Order: sequence, then structure tokens, then C-alpha cells
Amino acid sequence: MPWSAEDPALLTPGPLTTRIETRRAMLRDWGSRDRAFIALTAELRQRLLAVAGAEASHVAIPLQGSGTFIVEAAIATLLPPSGKLLVLANGSYGERMIAIATRLDRSVEALRWPEDRPVEPERVDAALAADPAITHVALVHCETTSGILNPFEAVAAVVARHGRPLILDAMSSFGALPIDLSTTPATAVLASSNKGLEGVPGLGFALVERQAIAAAKGNSPSTSLDLHDQWRGFEGNGQWRFTPPVQVVAALVEALRLLEAEGGPAARLRRYQDNFDTLAAGMVRMGFRLFLDPAVQAPIIATFHPLDDPRVTFEPFYEALAARGFLIYPGKLTRADSFRIGCIGALDRNDFQALLVAIEDTLSEMRR
Ligand SMILES: *Cc1c(COP(=O)(O)O)cnc(C)c1O
Repeated sequence: MPWSAEDPALLTPGPLTTRIETRRAMLRDWGSRDRAFIALTAELRQRLLAVAGAEASHVAIPLQGSGTFIVEAAIATLLPPSGKLLVLANGSYGERMIAIATRLDRSVEALRWPEDRPVEPERVDAALAADPAITHVALVHCETTSGILNPFEAVAAVVARHGRPLILDAMSSFGALPIDLSTTPATAVLASSNKGLEGVPGLGFALVERQAIAAAKGNSPSTSLDLHDQWRGFEGNGQWRFTPPVQVVAALVEALRLLEAEGGPAARLRRYQDNFDTLAAGMVRMGFRLFLDPAVQAPIIATFHPLDDPRVTFEPFYEALAARGFLIYPGKLTRADSFRIGCIGALDRNDFQALLVAIEDTLSEMRR
């Protein structure tokens, strides 16, 4: 695919490059309370459950807004006012959950790790044993700040052993990294339309255990961010409570059909891994160093240390790549100085080889 400044490849963790079929699915109008859109919504909810093997145990609750809206809605709805949330944090999305719970006036405790270290189940075990007041635990699956993969299955086992519900922020991993809710206990899994599912931005969704959402009536202090009421709306007449982003829904349903056609999350993970491997090998050849140990790296986003070369500064590097049709992530999230290149979206190894050529070109230009 020849990318250009006008039609660039998005090497970001979302919004990201989507397929033309996905964008084409938006080229009509839907009446939000019409039969055709009710059927589309039902297909959406069914397909989201199927991605995570959750048809028998969970319900899918889509919600208007970006990923943060679904995180806020899930914490507001699942934690009763008397609840206490333990957040396992090793990056800015874990920190955001702490801020959300605090803002919602819920008790919150943080267990923290450095940005380049995964969450350790043993410390979670000890924290839960020490504090019986903790009612819920929250984990970020792939912490997109750095691209680190946290051990979801091992943490879920510990949390289940202590009889506490687990809320998983799977925003950047859902659709690619394995999440099987028929074998791994998690009360709620949260993600959005515009990351590994390769849809366009505009909605988030929660897969929530049926009993947990049924028991959550009246918890949320917010009307629009109330997942219990949102769920009751879908169960009642198949409709959204408030105006849905109809085109975003249509695009996401098409993207979910394309995910199935690709071979499901396992096939998507192989493509992302190939993207990451192509990128990392090329970058290392040019003298860049990865921020994370390969053992804890998810193939979602690659974080690099800056080059030790005063001629290569980030702003002009970013601009030169943008002019060549490649938008990398403009700025860092980690505390350490770094920059990030996303590996997800409707891109394959050819796109990353083209990116590497553009980077090589840019570097020699900057060094002239
Ligand atoms: C992208 C992301 C979010 C949500 O971000 P929005 O900008 O609100 O869509 C939350 N958690 C993780 C881990 C993410 O990668």
C-alpha cells in the first residue's frame, strides 16, 4: 500500500489504520430505532461475546464514547458506593483507573510496579489476604504505555481464589491476545472499537458476567455511564438508550466479520507478531534499543529509547515520517524518555518494511 501524507498509515495504538471495507460499511444512514439497526446491534453484541468465548457466561454492553468512558462506566457500575477497588498499576492506564475511582468517590488502593515490570500475582495474593475490605480488583492486560503484557490468567486465578471480581482493561489486546472467558475467570472485560478489532473510534464495550450486571442496579452515580441501565435497555427492546454512533456500529460489525474471516484472534496475533518482529529487527539494525525485555513484550506497540545522536531529535523525526505517510505516536507516555510505534491495525509486514525504509531515509537526511 503506497502511503502518503494525505492518506497516512497510522502506527499508533488507536485510532489506527482500518480496512476499506470497514470504512465503506459507514456509507449509509440508519434509523437508530429501526429493525435493521436493532439487528445490527444484536449481531455486534453476539460477535463481541464470541471473540472472548463468553456467550454462556457474560453479556455484551456497548457504550458510546472512547475507551476511557467504558472504564469509567464499568467502575461506576460494578463498584457499589461501599466498595473498595485494588488497582494493579504499571503504567498510565492503571493510573487512570485509580484517578477514575477516586473521582467517583470509591475507596481505592494501588499496587504499583515500574513501567518495565509486569504485575506479580504473588503480591496481589498477599494484598488480598491482608485486606478483606477490598471488593474488586482491576488489571490492565497490555499496558499500552510501554506495550508490556501483564499475566492476566495468573492474576485472574489469584483473584478468583480470593473470591473477588476482576475487572480487566483489555483495550489494546482484545481481538488479538488470547482472552478466553470460558476458562479464565474475569467478571468484566473492557475494550473499544478502534484498537485490535480494527474498527473506527466512537464506542467502548464491556463483557460482564450476567449475575454481576444484574446485581449492579443503582450503583452508578451517573445516568449516561450506567452499564446496568444500558444493559436493561438492550435486553428490553434491543435498542440503545440514547443516540448510538450508528456508523461506528456498522463499521465495527464489518470489522468483526473481517476478524472472523482472517481466522479470529489467533490469526490476528500472528500478523501483529510478524509486524512487531519486522519492526524490531529493522530498528535494532539501525541502532535503536527496545525499552522492554522481549519476555514481557506484547506485539501491540513497541517502545524505543531515543538514539544517542544529537542530530536525531524527535519532532523533526516525527514530521519527516509524517511527510512520508507514516504517523507514529507523537510523544511519550512512559516516565523514561522514549517513543512508540504501534504494530496493530490493518497493516502487515510490507507496510513495516516500507516504514523502515522511510526511517532509514529520514535518519540519513537528519545526519547530513
Ligand atoms: C487506549 C486505551 C484506553 C482508552 O483510551 P481512550 O483514549 O479513552 O480510547 C484505556 N486503556 C488502555 C490500556 C488503552 O490502551
